[in-house]
Amino acid sequence: MSDYQEALALPGLFASYPLLRRWWKTGINLVFPPRCAGCGRVDKIWCERCQAEMDAIPLDTHVDPHPPMTAVAVTGIHNGLLQQVQWALKYEYTPEVAIPLGLRLAERFAMLNWTIDMVIPVPIHTLRLRERGYNQAQLLGEVAAHKLALPCVPAALQRLRQTQSQVTLNAQERLANMQNAFEADPQLVSGQRILLIDDVYTTGATLVACAQAALDAGASAVYGLTVTSPRG
Ligand SMILES: [Zn+2]
Repeated sequence: MSDYQEALALPGLFASYPLLRRWWKTGINLVFPPRCAGCGRVDKIWCERCQAEMDAIPLDTHVDPHPPMTAVAVTGIHNGLLQQVQWALKYEYTPEVAIPLGLRLAERFAMLNWTIDMVIPVPIHTLRLRERGYNQAQLLGEVAAHKLALPCVPAALQRLRQTQSQVTLNAQERLANMQNAFEADPQLVSGQRILLIDDVYTTGATLVACAQAALDAGASAVYGLTVTSPRG
C-alpha cells in the first residue's frame, strides 16, 4: 500500500467532515468529475505529475525561528504548486491533498535532528472550522505524525478566542492580535517536546503564541514545522 493510500485509510482522519457536505460533494462529483488540485486535470484530486513536480521542489528552505521556539522549518516557499495546493486544501474543500502535503512535512522533519514527543496542530477559529468542515493544520499534523510514528494530540491546544483576520496587520500587530489567544493543557504537554504543525509560516505570530501557551503549561521545548513560508 502506498503512503497515500495508507494515510487515506487512517481511522478518523477524515471523519470530521460534516456528512451532509460529503454527500453533497459526492453528488457534485457525479456531474462534474474531480479535478487535480495541482493542475486541474480531470479524474483525480491529486495526480502523479503534480506529485512528481512537488517532489522536485527543494525541501531545505531556511527560516529563522522566533523565540520562544527552539527551531522552525518549512518545506518550501509559498508560490507555484505548493501555494496552489494549499489554497485548494483551505478554500476548495479538498481535504485529501493534506496527504501529499503531510507526507512532505514528514520528509522535511526526517532531515532534521529534532527529538519530539508529540505533534500538535495549530487550532483554527471555530467559525472557520464550521465553514470549512475540517482544520487543515490538523489533517496535515495527523498525516505527518502517522508517517513519523509520533502521537498527534490536537486536544493539547485550544484557541481561546476568535482573533481578527491577520491579512491586513503588520508583524507587530499580528503578535499583539495573537497574544493569549491559545491555551495548552498542562496534563498533556508538561515535560513534552512539541512539534507545532501549521500550513503557512508568515510572521510567526501564530506559532509564537501557540509555543508560549505550551511553554506556560510546562512543555520543555517547542519546534515549528509548516508547509510553506512566503520568504526564502
Ligand atoms: Zn495534477
